[in-house]
Amino acid sequence: MNGREPIHEPALPVFDEEAEWVHAAAERFENAHASDLLEWALAEFHPRMAISAAGGVDGMAIIDMAWRINPEVRVFTLDTGRLPPETYTLFQNIREKYSINVEFEYPETDAVSSLVSREGPNLMYRAVELRLACCEIRKVIPLKKKLAKLDAWVAGLRREQWRTRKNIAKVELDRDHGGIVKLNPLADWTADEVWEYVRKNDVPYHELFDQGYASIGCAPCTRPVQPGESERAGRWWWEQETDKECGIHCSVGLLGSASDREREQIGGFVPDNGGGSDAVASLSQTSTPGDPDENEAAS
Ligand code: SF4
Repeated sequence: MNGREPIHEPALPVFDEEAEWVHAAAERFENAHASDLLEWALAEFHPRMAISAAGGVDGMAIIDMAWRINPEVRVFTLDTGRLPPETYTLFQNIREKYSINVEFEYPETDAVSSLVSREGPNLMYRAVELRLACCEIRKVIPLKKKLAKLDAWVAGLRREQWRTRKNIAKVELDRDHGGIVKLNPLADWTADEVWEYVRKNDVPYHELFDQGYASIGCAPCTRPVQPGESERAGRWWWEQETDKECGIHCSVGLLGSASDREREQIGGFVPDNGGGSDAVASLSQTSTPGDPDENEAAS
């Protein structure tokens, strides 16, 4: 693996045979094309494997590659309830072009209702911890439930995207999700290479990419980027010192976005367990974006 240490394995030391098997696979496919990795993974794990898609161009390239290998490939998405309308258009396009019934996963209604009723719909702008609480309920927990039913999942992460992703391997043991296998077929691709694949193969892509967006997420938490800015600059742009992750690709507590102590103060982000707004209010605040309502217009 060229000396790389996957960032998804910081919690526990890796000594067991399963981890060695995964590391061997990572080494085997490090210099292979993404399609070769997907072909192996589909043979190995389908139908207990699914591609995670959120609207990004990377996920679309992976879907296209995998579909060419096995048209029965599974695709899922986390519908947070705050996605821009263009994301639904994209998933409709996937259905029509590939005949793939994208599996939509939803957060628990009671958890969302409790958090939003207590903290307001635009809580994410007030504090990092509140933003993480929203991500926990709308993304992290639904993902955990989904992955509990799978043996492997595929993500569109690339090493050049952000500092938290520079050490990802193409095959990882995802200890945050029960030790299933996580595949990052595009780990060593550049954004230009992904776009070249998408254009060459007429792959559908998210409309917002033509409006200056470089990374797609929930409407209130994503904006276009300026020339020269990094791909992730448009995600949670009002946060200055965080790792711009939501916890689905790595444990945010391990990244320093919020300490475990702080997270415990608000009840581990679970709104029904007594986490109160007083504790939240005492945590570190972020700068407020210029006009949150402007962002809401897109949701
Ligand atoms: Fe909530 Fe924003 Fe996270 Fe989406 S990205 S779950 S709206 S904080």
